[in-house]
Amino acid sequence: MAIEGVASDPAESVLGDYDVVIVGAGPAGLSAGIYARRVGLEAIILEKGVPGGQILTSPNIENYPGFPEIPGMKLMEIMADHARRYIEIREGEEVLRVRSAEKFEISTTSGRYTTKAIILATGSSHRKLDVPGEEGLIGKGVSYCATCDGFFYKGRETIVVGGGNTALTDSLYLHSIGAKVTIVHRRDSFRADRHLQDTVKGHKIPVVWNTVVDEVVGKEEVSAVKLRNVKTGAAETRAINGVFVAVGEIPSSQLATELGLEMDPGGFVTVDRSFRTNVPFVYAAGDVSGGIRQVVAAVHGGAAAALACFEDLMNPYYSRLA
Ligand code: NAP
Repeated sequence: MAIEGVASDPAESVLGDYDVVIVGAGPAGLSAGIYARRVGLEAIILEKGVPGGQILTSPNIENYPGFPEIPGMKLMEIMADHARRYIEIREGEEVLRVRSAEKFEISTTSGRYTTKAIILATGSSHRKLDVPGEEGLIGKGVSYCATCDGFFYKGRETIVVGGGNTALTDSLYLHSIGAKVTIVHRRDSFRADRHLQDTVKGHKIPVVWNTVVDEVVGKEEVSAVKLRNVKTGAAETRAINGVFVAVGEIPSSQLATELGLEMDPGGFVTVDRSFRTNVPFVYAAGDVSGGIRQVVAAVHGGAAAALACFEDLMNPYYSRLA
């Protein structure tokens, strides 16, 4: 049940007391919200930005059952509207701290919440190359989101770095809008789905294999990249306008650290098959808990976490023994 704020300092106002607070409104958080409310839990979703998560930037989703082909933004709009039928999503409200007391205390940019349980659906962020020139040229030719920034590169030379599903999807997107795109990958084979590999091949998108980016060059904007073949050591400076980095994800696990959650060496929260963490009444779902990192997996994780949470709140003695 939500309580109205009582203090004048926003950091001190208690904005609500819930059975479960869901952090993050990507596919996992939205699904958790629907399931939590439908089993009767008092629940809210806190989202630091807008609902949707990283999938908002996916140009096209072709593997979410029921939607043979749909832009990521559209899919998430539908999912968020569906979730809002059941649960309030507080947008633009970032969780700053989580403290475990008699109940959990959550401090956000707007105030404070108390809750019996937490579902972390905080997602992940883009991994960087960590090479000279990259940081200073972000937004000036270095991008981590082809759908957001690709438009400016029509007719211009770009590279996409990486060999996973994101890299290949991004290269296809850039190609489709008329950018000149080359994929630069550090190995001699892709890890992306076969279907994407075949499509990239079909469009004759060039690939530079066994090659890494050593430096991004440019003053006001990107003008070149320094490439190095990791097998031969051969170096090359290639004139380029845009560098699209698609080299994987880093879990957003800061809150997990504060809560003392177990994580794997990559920083992904360790969960059991019901998405319980090692801390009672804390659950993690979606990208922050690793796994195959697909929308379909995230919605499963969110639903399972909400149902486990319901079970634990109804019968904590049983669940702690399990
Ligand atoms: P990913 O699958 O982890 O692939 C990252 C790629 O970047 C790998 O090819 C990796 O090379 C390379 N890489 C990593 N660090 C690098 C570095 N420092 N320098 C150069 N290359 C580096 O990441 P992702 O493609 O972003 O995908 C993330 C998750 O989202 C995956 O589970 C993926 O399946 C999913 N996803 C799915 C779809 C879809 O189903 N359509 C679309 C996008 C993403 P190695 O191969 O040598 O390790």
